[in-house]
Amino acid sequence: MKKITILGSTGSIGTQTLDILSREPDRYQVEAISAGSNLELVIAQAKQFRPKTVCLATKSLAEEAKLHLPKGTNVLYGNEGLIETAAATDADTVVTAIVGSRGLEATLAAIDAGKHIGLANKETLVTAGHLVMRRAAERGVSVLPIDSEHSAIFQCLNGERRADVKRITLTASGGSFRDRTREELQGVTVAEALNHPNWSMGAKITIDSATMVNKGLEVIEAHWLFGLSYDQIDVIIHPESIIHSYVEFVDHSIIAQLGLPDMRVPIQYALTYPERRPTPTESLNLAKLSALHFREMDFDRYPCLRSAYESGRAGQSVPTVFNAANETAVARFLEGSITFLEIEAVIAKVLDQHQATDVPDVQSIAAVDAWARTVAANI
Ligand code: NAD
Ligand code: MG
Repeated sequence: MKKITILGSTGSIGTQTLDILSREPDRYQVEAISAGSNLELVIAQAKQFRPKTVCLATKSLAEEAKLHLPKGTNVLYGNEGLIETAAATDADTVVTAIVGSRGLEATLAAIDAGKHIGLANKETLVTAGHLVMRRAAERGVSVLPIDSEHSAIFQCLNGERRADVKRITLTASGGSFRDRTREELQGVTVAEALNHPNWSMGAKITIDSATMVNKGLEVIEAHWLFGLSYDQIDVIIHPESIIHSYVEFVDHSIIAQLGLPDMRVPIQYALTYPERRPTPTESLNLAKLSALHFREMDFDRYPCLRSAYESGRAGQSVPTVFNAANETAVARFLEGSITFLEIEAVIAKVLDQHQATDVPDVQSIAAVDAWARTVAANI
């Protein structure tokens, strides 16, 4: 039995992870789940999967949950609870499906406790890739990607020598507004931005896809996961999301990973690697599809992507600022206090005011993160 803990069990990745686990109940045991505030769903999940530990965002939610959870469930809350959920259970693997850099401390705690990581929470690698990857190497645990592009690259690299890689290319669907010009982005609504053509995902990542910040975060994520320089990481627009990403080798041979867009494939692979198991997703029929399309990335259309590359290359505290400014700007757009195009303006202004510094530990990352959020909230 593989013992799994899921941080963020009620979200898009969390529920799809539980869906995968529910199909092979003899192979998996759910040790612990954590969620924000969706009480009804987390209680239903606890009744179905019987985790020993359940964590909620606040004390009052935890008190309320206790009234309905199966007797004997260990109920935790807040950041301390999240850290305990990540580290202090018998899980072998922790799936980080929480959204945002708030997942960092719990991810590090899981690593320090010797848990393997199935990583969906890309913001943790963006904000502190140097800490996460170093601690994982020191502790001898694996950090396996759940993000579809990174799972694709990981699969393409199976059995290959890292020195033979020329470059990797991350594919991008283009998000909700891929066929609009910048002029046509004036006044777009939250509902329009949340309407992604190929994937059904959480609100934050859906907005990030529309601004192309998501691809920027993924470039930085790939840098840390695969130890590649930013010059070796390309991006291309591929509207159908069938080729999930590809690797070009020094002999100019290219290996790509294909499939219908279904996150349950990369989620499961992170849990069963190096084995493959059947999934509920449909077979890809290329003849039926008949054509795939690609176009060059337009960095003027998507300035946030350029800014992500610049932040990644600058290193030190700059990716933390890029990420925190974006998290705040997206939250402000979702609550209606800024427009869609102001997301990129907020990020640019915060980066502009920032002096890069070393961020050798979690405390210094937290301080820079908090600074960037305050500035972004007041623009
Ligand atoms: P989501 O918004 O659907 O779910 C987020 C989860 O985090 C929920 O369970 C929520 O309850 C929990 N959470 C939110 N705030 C919390 C708080 N304060 N305390 C504790 N828990 C809290 O997000 P998602 O789309 O599932 O994305 C999760 C992560 O996976 C993100 O980092 C995203 O970038 C990444 N990712 C998602 C997809 C996808 O298809 N959805 C694909 C690739 C990567
Ligand atoms: Mg992705």
